[in-house]
Amino acid sequence: MDERAARALIDERAPNAACALCGGTDWITAKDGKPITFLSFEAKEDPRVRVLAIVCTNCGYLRLHSLDVLEALD
Ligand SMILES: [Zn+2]
Repeated sequence: MDERAARALIDERAPNAACALCGGTDWITAKDGKPITFLSFEAKEDPRVRVLAIVCTNCGYLRLHSLDVLEALD
């Protein structure tokens, strides 16, 4: 799933999302929409967690969306 499809699905499932900190509603994707991969040191067999990061343009609050979950929903 590319960034545009992931963002469209997020906007469809969570329309008008407001920032948990400032209440802002203007968001941009971080890293030009490139997926970010975390490594979970607790998960030995499958430690990768791929996310799309979205940032509030008013306060910089960062929210992360699991690409595995979005792909399963699509
Ligand atoms: Zn904010």
